[in-house]
Amino acid sequence: MKIHEFQGKKIFSKFGMPVQDGYVFEKLENAASTIKRVQKDFDTEDVVIKAQIHAGGRGKGGGVKYSPNFEKALENAKNIFGMNLKTHQTGKDGQKVRKVYVTEAFDIAKEFYAAITLDRSKGMDIFMVSSEGGLDIEKIAEKTPEKITKVWINPLLGIKSFQARKLAYALELNGNVSKSAIKIFMQMYKCYQNTDATILEVNPLILTKDQKVVILDSKINFDDNALFRHKDIAEMRDLNEEDPMEVEAGKFNLNYIKLDGNVGCMVNGAGLAMATMDIIKIAGGEPSNFLDVGGTANSETVKNGFRIILSDKNVKAILINIFGGIVRCDRVANGVVQAVKELGLKVPVIVRLEGTNAKEAQQILENSKVSITPAIGMKDAAEKVVKAALENQEI
Ligand code: ADP
Ligand code: MG
Repeated sequence: MKIHEFQGKKIFSKFGMPVQDGYVFEKLENAASTIKRVQKDFDTEDVVIKAQIHAGGRGKGGGVKYSPNFEKALENAKNIFGMNLKTHQTGKDGQKVRKVYVTEAFDIAKEFYAAITLDRSKGMDIFMVSSEGGLDIEKIAEKTPEKITKVWINPLLGIKSFQARKLAYALELNGNVSKSAIKIFMQMYKCYQNTDATILEVNPLILTKDQKVVILDSKINFDDNALFRHKDIAEMRDLNEEDPMEVEAGKFNLNYIKLDGNVGCMVNGAGLAMATMDIIKIAGGEPSNFLDVGGTANSETVKNGFRIILSDKNVKAILINIFGGIVRCDRVANGVVQAVKELGLKVPVIVRLEGTNAKEAQQILENSKVSITPAIGMKDAAEKVVKAALENQEI
């Protein structure tokens, strides 16, 4: 699960980290009062107006604006609120701005990058910092990786102070500034562990002209499987920021992820779903989704899965690839038939069914008169569905 910058900063504050703070408004009529409140409470004339969406790169996309006075702040707030913000992380459609964060402004001397995630290959957490913080960390990682310093942390031992010192040293910090940074790094790790985060990123961590170290931006992703332990964090979920089809799928315990292609896939088992996407690509097509109906799928879940695939306008053909083990093929067939009866079917469906009750399933599909094309084996299925999608696309 992802959260907004302002929510991440609230969590950081609880862990005693210094953040650039402010207030959020969600209705334009509250813009002026919010700006005034920030100016008063933080004793500042200038503020920064920041779009809150679940994507980075807001600054470059025009969603972060420095505002020297109230009038300018209000103008920027009006422009940013409701705008369709496009960044390299939102995809081509952009994301509508529904929440705007008004924050205190700082005179920045330096911008750093700091982030923690899991390094699966080493079985340890990795803490990365760079003196080249701010807007373009992806480019730094690609072109000048030597500018990123990495420290690996054994999750059972936690971060040791010598490791935090090494990170501060890499940023060439000295004296009290170094002490503040070390404290922040120790707390960042503690926060990462205690909240079951999968990514915790601060970009930028800044040094102000008056020598304070402050967190200016936050990005935290959480492990969904651990959210039951963090009710307060789970409550921060913002469904507006998530793909509506993925939200809908979540209600039925379906593992659905929306993708950009035109071949819908309904598969049981995550491994088989991955293999199905691969073979569709090998056959020259592009999957429109990942969908694992799971081991306990009944005809109701399958129906809902199929309905979700059908509601995606990009889908031009569907591949049902089921290897019946615990999931019985006949249940899948029943679900598909029910969904088609309710919704009609405008796209070709290719079916590959193997395993438990495959014959019964075949019978159910035939009797239902739902127009489907049977396939034998994955390769045959993939080739058929890609061809069907292509033909349907051209019509
Ligand atoms: P994003 O990462 O989505 O672009 P950030 O919060 O990191 O958004 O802001 C982008 C840039 O805007 C920062 O790197 C910084 O240079 C500038 N900025 C943001 N907030 C302030 C602030 N309070 N004072 C001065 N500059 C700021
Ligand atoms: Mg940032």
